[in-house]
Amino acid sequence: MSQEVTTLGDPAAPLLARAQAAIEDRSLNGVKAWKAANPGALAIGHMPIYTPRPLIEAIGALPVAMFGGGDQVDIIRGDSYFQSYICHIPRSTIELALGGDLDALDGVVFPAICDVIRNLSGMWKLLFPEKWSAYLDVPQNFDRNLGGKFYGLELRRLARELHQRGAKELTDDALAQAIADENERRAAIAELDLIRQKEPWRVRASEAYLMVRAGAAIPAREHTKLLREFLGIAGDRKTRAYDNVRVVMIGSFCEQPPIDLLRALEKAGCDIVWDDAQLGMRTIEGSIELRTSEGGRSALDALVDAYCEQGAATASRYIGNEVKGASLIDRVQKTGAEGVIFAAASFCDPALLDQPMLETALNVAGIPHTSFKYAENTAQFQVIREQAGAFSDSVRLFGGGA
Ligand code: SF4
Repeated sequence: MSQEVTTLGDPAAPLLARAQAAIEDRSLNGVKAWKAANPGALAIGHMPIYTPRPLIEAIGALPVAMFGGGDQVDIIRGDSYFQSYICHIPRSTIELALGGDLDALDGVVFPAICDVIRNLSGMWKLLFPEKWSAYLDVPQNFDRNLGGKFYGLELRRLARELHQRGAKELTDDALAQAIADENERRAAIAELDLIRQKEPWRVRASEAYLMVRAGAAIPAREHTKLLREFLGIAGDRKTRAYDNVRVVMIGSFCEQPPIDLLRALEKAGCDIVWDDAQLGMRTIEGSIELRTSEGGRSALDALVDAYCEQGAATASRYIGNEVKGASLIDRVQKTGAEGVIFAAASFCDPALLDQPMLETALNVAGIPHTSFKYAENTAQFQVIREQAGAFSDSVRLFGGGA
C-alpha cells in the first residue's frame, strides 16, 4: 500500500513551483541574471550527460544542461536541418538557438552520447561559427592509464580552450573545491532518491525530477541549498493512502519525457522508485573521491577515475565483459521494484538498441516489464496511461520482482 501527497497546504509547493519555473525558463533568464551578477564569467551549455560540471565550475563558468525545447517550442526551422527519422532533441535545440533563446550561452559542449549529438555538434559549428563549441569524446575503455589518460587530456583541452576565451585558468585547488561542492549535491540527491524509494508517497518521482532538474543551470552549491530546503520539509507533507506498484523507469537519459507523462504514470498506479531521466546528475555513482594522499594524484585525476570506475550503466556506455542487464536487475532488487518500464524517446538509437537485451535479462529473471516511446513534445498521454494502468494492475494481480 502506498500513499499520495495532497497538494492542499503542501509546504513543499513553493519550492516545487520554483523548480517548475526554472525548467520552463527556455530563454535562460536565470543564466542571464547569473552573468549579470558575475561580470565576465562564461556560461557553458552542454547536452544532457557526460559533461563534468565541476570542471566548468572550477574555471569560474556556469554549466548549463541543455534538454531541448520540451513541449514549449514549435519546431519550424529545426526540422529542416535533420532527417525525419531521428529523435526530437536536436531539432528543438537548433530551433531554440536560431530563435535566440540560447544567446546567453558563451559556448556549448557536445559530449559523445550518440551519433545524433555528433551531428548536432557539426550543425552547430556550421550555424554558429563565432561561438565556442567542443565535441567531447569520452573513452569506452575504462583503464585509468588508457581511456582515463585520454579523457584527462580531453578535459584539459576543454579547460585550456575556455581559458583562452576568458574563463579562469584551471587549478587543482579550484577543481578540488568544485568536486567537493558536487559531492555535496550528490549526497543531497542520494537522500532524495532514498526517500522516494522508501516512502514514494512522500516525494513522487515527478517531484524528485523537478527538484533535480532545477539544478541544470545553477551552481552546485545553490542547487544543494535548494535540495536541502526541500528535504527539510519533505517529512512534514500530509499523505493519503494510495495503492501503487513500484517500478524502475529506464531509457529517458537524454531527450526528456514531458513532466506530465511522469504524472500520468503516477496516476496510472506506478510509483517510479528510480529512473534515468536526470542521469546527467547521476552519471557518476557516489562521491568523487579526492584521495589527495595518493602521490601525485590531482583533482583532475579524481574526476577521471570517477568517470572510469563509477560510471552509471547506460545505453551509451560500453560495459566490457559485464553481463548486459545485470545492473538493471541489481537496480530493481535494490529499490524493491516490482517491474520495469522502458520509456525511450522515439528514434533514440542507444536506448532502443539496448532495450531487447535488457528485456531478455528481465525475462530470465522473471521481472515484468512494459515499454512505450515518447517525444519531448508529446501532449497526449491517455494511451500511455492506459497501458501503464494495465501493467500496474497485472503486476498487482500476478506479482513481480526479482
Ligand atoms: S535522444 Fe537518444 S538518439 Fe537522440 S540525441 Fe539523445 S541519446 Fe541520441
